[in-house]
Amino acid sequence: MDNGEVRGWLAQDDATRLEELWRLADAARRRCVGDAVHLRGLIEISNRCRRLCGYCGLRADNRRLERYAMTAREILDCARQAVRFGYGTVVLQSGEDAGLSGEWVADLVARTRSDEQTRGLAVTLSLGERSEADLALWKQAGADRYLLRFETSNRALFELIHPSLPGRGGDRVAILRHLRRLGYEVGSGVMIGIPGQTIDDLAADIALFAELELDMIGVGPYIAHPDTPMGACPERYPPAPPGRQAPASELMTYKMIALARLACPRANIPSTTALATLNLAEGRELGLMRGANVVMPNLTPTAYRSLYEIYPAKACLRETADQCHSCMKSRIESIGRTVAVGRGDSLSHCGRTQTPAGSI
Ligand code: SAH
Repeated sequence: MDNGEVRGWLAQDDATRLEELWRLADAARRRCVGDAVHLRGLIEISNRCRRLCGYCGLRADNRRLERYAMTAREILDCARQAVRFGYGTVVLQSGEDAGLSGEWVADLVARTRSDEQTRGLAVTLSLGERSEADLALWKQAGADRYLLRFETSNRALFELIHPSLPGRGGDRVAILRHLRRLGYEVGSGVMIGIPGQTIDDLAADIALFAELELDMIGVGPYIAHPDTPMGACPERYPPAPPGRQAPASELMTYKMIALARLACPRANIPSTTALATLNLAEGRELGLMRGANVVMPNLTPTAYRSLYEIYPAKACLRETADQCHSCMKSRIESIGRTVAVGRGDSLSHCGRTQTPAGSI
């Protein structure tokens, strides 16, 4: 699909015409990754953060937020819970927390990969922009995958909403390429409807997904948080040209999921919590029916869960891990899909690493 067609779909609002996009994406999903939906157990290991992202409630200067960091024991207990629920993967996510040292995380990964109960789990990390040394150390310790959204391919907009650390460039695409060289399965994604973001920007995001040959793609609507500059003072951010602002809507999110599936047919694509936040009743299901093949039930202990407030009114905020588990399972089965067994490694990554030496 060329850029013009992608833009055409992003601008399309006719429900009957969009049925065709949903049909194409669902067919590609079924053909390339099948009917099984992978469950990734999400553990939000720390909400401490050194960054000042304009959109995120975890930003360093949000003093209203009580901070926490889980202990290794608590995290391992959650990973064991993941095994009992039959999940093949745990995703360890946090703010960009300098308190999580490279060695501490490496030790945690190594323990998860050697513990009698959790050794079969794939480990995905999503800990922000970390040094090349840390990323290499974690790979050696047994981490399998890394998630780092580039948030928007519009560089000027990215720099505006995600200021770099003093003296350091903020090139997430360079980090994604480095993760690939280290042998990680690489995941990225964007927010949809960031103030100042246009449909052309979203089309460029889709092109970048394909260029990076992502193994995992997560997209979700931008949701304003009142304790952030973008939420409290949106007027301080330059608007898109008249009539060009991309909406942070449920519909635009489905279009991006469907187009991501068509751009990277073998990628693992979650139906995200931000989408479920816009439509609690059936957002997850519609995402799965329009290209997605992954859901991420939350395993974070309830005491911490409400403190991982990247945006307000997050879906599943008060549920326990048990409730999230049965809710996800029944949603998957209600649309005639099955719950996957096993680690659910990315098929594109397997294809890439099994390419015989010497061939392109
Ligand atoms: N510190 C890590 C994890 C951040 S939370 C990192 O920066 O990679 C994971 C994702 O939540 C972010 O990448 C971002 O896309 C999303 N997010 C953060 N704030 C959001 C908001 N206000 N609305 C919607 N999504 C948001």
